[in-house]
Amino acid sequence: MTRRHRWSARRALALLVAAAPPAAAQSAPQRAAPPAVRAADYDFDDSHFHLTNYVQEGTSVRDYLRIMGTRVGRSTLFGIPLQQTWAYANSGSYAPTYYLQSDAPLYYYSFTDAFIAMAYRSLSPEQRARFDPMITGFNPADMYAAAHIRRVLRTFPGVFTGIGEFSIHKEFVSAKIAGEVASLTNPALDSILALAGESGLVVLIHNDVDMPFAKAGAEPVYLTQMKDLVRRHRNATIIWAHMGLGRIVQPVRSSASAPATERNLNFELVVQGILADPTLGHVSFDISWDEVQKYILATPETTRRSADMINRYPDRFLFGSDVVAPRDSAMYFAVYDAYRPLWTLLTPDARVKVSRGNYERLFDAGRTRVRAWERAQGWVAQGSTDR
Ligand SMILES: [Zn+2]
Repeated sequence: MTRRHRWSARRALALLVAAAPPAAAQSAPQRAAPPAVRAADYDFDDSHFHLTNYVQEGTSVRDYLRIMGTRVGRSTLFGIPLQQTWAYANSGSYAPTYYLQSDAPLYYYSFTDAFIAMAYRSLSPEQRARFDPMITGFNPADMYAAAHIRRVLRTFPGVFTGIGEFSIHKEFVSAKIAGEVASLTNPALDSILALAGESGLVVLIHNDVDMPFAKAGAEPVYLTQMKDLVRRHRNATIIWAHMGLGRIVQPVRSSASAPATERNLNFELVVQGILADPTLGHVSFDISWDEVQKYILATPETTRRSADMINRYPDRFLFGSDVVAPRDSAMYFAVYDAYRPLWTLLTPDARVKVSRGNYERLFDAGRTRVRAWERAQGWVAQGSTDR
């Protein structure tokens, strides 16, 4: 990452933000142009954003740009690799759009990668500079998954910065996927992370640290496997989505009867153990998803302890919304705005790093490495400019 790259990206964003989103005119109701702002004025970069939902529908990238407006600098861009089957035998004429709305299986919908790449390519260079598209349409239990990722990069050179969000263990979801269940010990996953380490693709991985309804006081069931996995790929940049938590996969407690002020104690030790481990320095956490937010903001005490941990390790946490296919800005900004009690407890340095700085450091490095790797393969986007 050279200084020149960083400045050109900043300048592109500053110009873009100052110019107001041109796409807004198409479908947006009449509105005044947003005031010109400097790049430094935006609130955050979004490290975890789904443009489309479980049936591959969602927000157009131009509408998303309009929603981002002047409050968001940059964003990751991915869909959801899993498609919910509409099985007539299961739900009849009811068309499910979420995995909890049907008993029918989910399957990997690889076309999502082409869809995301084409959406990105439809934008102007200045607009593209605000996005980091991610490859998701692979089955992490398939030894051919890495071949798919290579094929996507070769077909769309100059586009992708990372892979993910893809899931290994995810409550309610993993068991619904057709075919072999994904596992942290599957060599297919090692070949995916090896490619990420070689090419520079930033990895955004969802892996519940524990099973739902785990016994209090027990070590999270997937913790050791996860640490072993990422230790085998220390040249990869890895973001562990949601700090390993889920809707019902809770922060582990010291005991079932622990008072509320101590209920997150063990989970903090788990996270701090990773942060303090020199062999895991390439692993960061995102604090995305309103379901994760509910743990952090559960009480003033949990918020303060979370802030203390982030303040101690400000380079290791990223904000992300994890919003799926937002209909409007109210839906999109809800997660960021609800985190206000946390933001106010962070040091100024930590607040800037978590909301923007860490994103720009990791994804700028990813862009530079992947572009160089693509060039080394002889895959160069036609008419590409160094972004
Ligand atoms: Zn997500």
